[in-house]
Amino acid sequence: MTDWKTRTKLIHAGARRSQYGEMSEAIFLTQGFVYDSAEQAEARFIESGPDEFIYARYGNPTVRIFEERMAAIEGTEDAFATASGMAAVNGALTSMLKAGDHVVAARALFGSCLYVLEILGRFGVEVTLVDGTDLDQWRAAVREGTKAVFLESVSNPTLEVIDVKSVAEIAHAVGATVVVDNVFATPTFSKAVELGADVVVYSATKHIDGSGRCLGGIVCGTKHYIRKVLEPYLKHTGAALSPFNAWVMLKGMETLDLRVRQQAASALAIAEALNGHDKLVRVIYPGLKDHAQHAIAMEQMGAGGTVVTLEVEGGQEGAFRFLNALEIVTISNNLGDAKSIITHPATTTHQRLPAEQKVLLGITPGLVRLSIGLEDPEDLLADLTRALAAV
Ligand SMILES: *Cc1c(COP(=O)(O)O)cnc(C)c1O
Repeated sequence: MTDWKTRTKLIHAGARRSQYGEMSEAIFLTQGFVYDSAEQAEARFIESGPDEFIYARYGNPTVRIFEERMAAIEGTEDAFATASGMAAVNGALTSMLKAGDHVVAARALFGSCLYVLEILGRFGVEVTLVDGTDLDQWRAAVREGTKAVFLESVSNPTLEVIDVKSVAEIAHAVGATVVVDNVFATPTFSKAVELGADVVVYSATKHIDGSGRCLGGIVCGTKHYIRKVLEPYLKHTGAALSPFNAWVMLKGMETLDLRVRQQAASALAIAEALNGHDKLVRVIYPGLKDHAQHAIAMEQMGAGGTVVTLEVEGGQEGAFRFLNALEIVTISNNLGDAKSIITHPATTTHQRLPAEQKVLLGITPGLVRLSIGLEDPEDLLADLTRALAAV
């Protein structure tokens, strides 16, 4: 299996079949497992083997297929699935930190990721936020005793691309663990581990499901980190992925590569067509040559991803007119869905942030985040162009 290419692993890695030899992965919708004897139960609580389960909060066969498949894709020794992407981010960081530890994070983060850092601060973890695209700031912020660095490899929603390889070198020089939220890079374009990430986190809710059905998350890392650091925290705090949701994610993985490549190709075509439009202040897309980190994006992902961020003329009023005039693209806040989705971060996903922080993060009143779906890109472009005329 280790020789298989990603597209083969997406279909077959981690497969396990019951005695019935089912073709499609089974949903083991069970909370518990029975033991042949009291002695077997005792032994399993001391140390469970890879095919032995105790309780769905600790692990489940369907969830285990998902974990093994994701570890195979990312090239990590192991993985642990969670109930949502945020449970994965929180688990990945909180499980390894304690009061007095120091964390350095890129400040351009999803609102909930910033909130997790705030919680850590309340429990005595010192957090330093830096401009993730400025390597000098990372160099100045890390120190002996920096336990972890945390970043979104492509930030939500401003699509800053962080040079993971250089940040990992800076972090590793002081012995810090590099935790990468890789949602926007997607498993298809991810080379996070090759670039030096120690822990890779996904919200599976996004591209992995890909049809906007279920919440889910995953943390990928070394066997030691997953089993000795993360698993005790997650299994006792309860953010377990439901077996049904794991099964949805497995079905999503079968088409993940096809979907994401098509979505990225459509995103590039749309970004190129809209770049320079007179109702747009800016088109931000890492696949465009004028993106500040275009070269890094190409090196790290080989593509620009599936999200295009636009700054509409006329601030919030212009942005709202644009959103309200769209017919195909729907107003919502998921991304990576087969359906194209548009979000106004300043009033939704990032509403909670103080005004000065929004300015610092580039979340202006005219900014909209456009997740490109699987519709015909010509129809999408026509919808977007027609709606821009209403601005
Ligand atoms: C959506 C998202 C999350 C959170 O995932 P949920 O599954 O909604 O909990 C975390 N990080 C990034 C970058 C995201 O886009």
